[in-house]
Amino acid sequence: MKYWRTYVKRLVRQPAYRLVLHILNKYRLRLLFTFLLGSGVAFLEGSTYVLIYLALGVLSGTKIDMPFVGDRLLHWPKPQVVSLLIGAAILVQIFQSALKYTSALITAYLGNRINLYLKERIMHRIFGFSYACITRYRYGELLDYISTSGMTISILIQTWNRLILHSLMTIAYLAVLIWISPILLIATLIVSAGLLLIQRQVVPRIEKNSRKLANNTVLVDSFIVESIQGIRLIYSFNQQLQILKKLHHLQMDLLKLNDRQVRWSALPQPLSQALVTTILGIMLLFGLWILSQDRPLNLVLPALATFISAYNRFANQGQSVVNQLADLAQRFGAVARLNEFLTNEDKEFLRVEGKPFPGLRREIRFDRVTLQYPGTETPALVEVSFTLPAGKVTALVGASGAGKSSVADLLVGLYEPTAGRILIDGVDRRELSLADWWARLGVVSQDNFVFNTTIRENIRFGRLNATDAEVERAAEAAYAAEFIERLPQGYDTVVGERGYRLSGGQRQRLALARAILRQPEILVLDEATSALDSHSEALVQKALYEFQKQRTVLVIAHRLSTIRHADQILVLEKGQLVEQGTHEELLAQGGYYARYWRLQVEGQPSAALT
Ligand code: ADP
Repeated sequence: MKYWRTYVKRLVRQPAYRLVLHILNKYRLRLLFTFLLGSGVAFLEGSTYVLIYLALGVLSGTKIDMPFVGDRLLHWPKPQVVSLLIGAAILVQIFQSALKYTSALITAYLGNRINLYLKERIMHRIFGFSYACITRYRYGELLDYISTSGMTISILIQTWNRLILHSLMTIAYLAVLIWISPILLIATLIVSAGLLLIQRQVVPRIEKNSRKLANNTVLVDSFIVESIQGIRLIYSFNQQLQILKKLHHLQMDLLKLNDRQVRWSALPQPLSQALVTTILGIMLLFGLWILSQDRPLNLVLPALATFISAYNRFANQGQSVVNQLADLAQRFGAVARLNEFLTNEDKEFLRVEGKPFPGLRREIRFDRVTLQYPGTETPALVEVSFTLPAGKVTALVGASGAGKSSVADLLVGLYEPTAGRILIDGVDRRELSLADWWARLGVVSQDNFVFNTTIRENIRFGRLNATDAEVERAAEAAYAAEFIERLPQGYDTVVGERGYRLSGGQRQRLALARAILRQPEILVLDEATSALDSHSEALVQKALYEFQKQRTVLVIAHRLSTIRHADQILVLEKGQLVEQGTHEELLAQGGYYARYWRLQVEGQPSAALT
């Protein structure tokens, strides 16, 4: 009993079960209805056995002492009474089946609704995480949470529902069995004691293994998703065999766990079945003797037949109860994983609320900003201080890994500084409403994601209420209109994964059109033009040049020639700000920048800093 109490207490504290309770509350009427149906089914099951017992009693011509009926039945013609009773038993069974069908229907309907609801809730949760928190998960993992959480919870509720139904049925049979002979029930107690004993042995092992199994399944799934995502890279490095080998190793580990799980989870059922059969044999032998002690001889057989039949059903139901418990234990792994995802303690959330941001007036200041990514040894940025004046263009220059993207991500608000502050007109960015901040911010990065929809909708993503004319004007400003109009369906051409494939330059111009449509006050540019052909590059550069006017711009420069007219240039080296000034000032200093410049522009015209 104590075991169960602590078990239930442990359950209720888990977020996954709190979610279950929330759903139970949301759908309480339907659930109450299924519970009532379940009780009805159990009651009718018990009644059938009473009817059969009566019919057998009448057949044997004995006086049966029954409430409501007494011995009245004996005065009626025998065949009619027996047919009446059997007929009633059949009707009760048919009605019971109808109830069972309705109950199954409602449960499945509920399952569908719970699935739907949870998918949205999990997406909502993911979108509520801070960017830093999301990046701790792999794509495959997040997909797995979205696609399986609904299943996990709805199966959990269905299993509990079945558990309750089978328990009710077990109780109904128990009532019939007690009514016939409580003494014979001692055998039943032995069975349950045996079953409980086995369950206590087996279930914890299934729980432990199932947790391992769930984790390893996700590992394999994420590995597959990553391998498919990185297929270009894998092909170009000819790593297919290595990937397949690693997959095989991962799968073999999984197979071992799966086999072990099969061995353990298949155990409770046959084991309890063997026990039940033994007990049935014993019952048959002793039943005749026990039952003949307190009833007339010609009632012994009907009583024994009813008892054994009812006991058989009782055992089946009892077994189902054990199965449902084993099933719950098996799902323990999935629930534990869901719990890890649903606990708030180790998560960071987007802080969307805050002071309103009316727009940039003077400057953005990085004040001794340090950033250390979770799980890394050295900080990516160390006490970096600089000012981005409003309406001016600031360029970031540095070798790969110097910390340029980190500065941009901090400015956007995807990460928070580990130490130091980012002051927007003197106010800490953390105090501002992120929603307001993002509304005035535009980002054009190397990650030019294209949604699987029309070009028009892809551009409109920049500002959802823009008119068609505004979308087209933005495309013209980004020098994208020219190629869009040549496409088979123009602005209505579907692009993206399953649509028309755009070239790198076209994607970038599309992303630029998206940003132009937004008309942001503050613009963050990851100027990755090195991957473009020279025609595209010239067009993108021209569009960018126009777009940067009258805006506060932070541009990550890969080609120094594109930023020589920037109002100021910041040079980063290993996470530290090492130089700062205009192109001419930095050239005159003869430091890092001057070296880069010589290397790229004068020495090797095609080299790019990345
Ligand atoms: P750059 O843009 O100049 O190439 P980054 O800002 O991308 O440089 O990276 C700076 C350093 O921070 C690098 O050492 C990089 O490995 C590390 N880094 C970048 N992003 C992450 C991340 N999400 N988690 C851990 N380390 C990161």
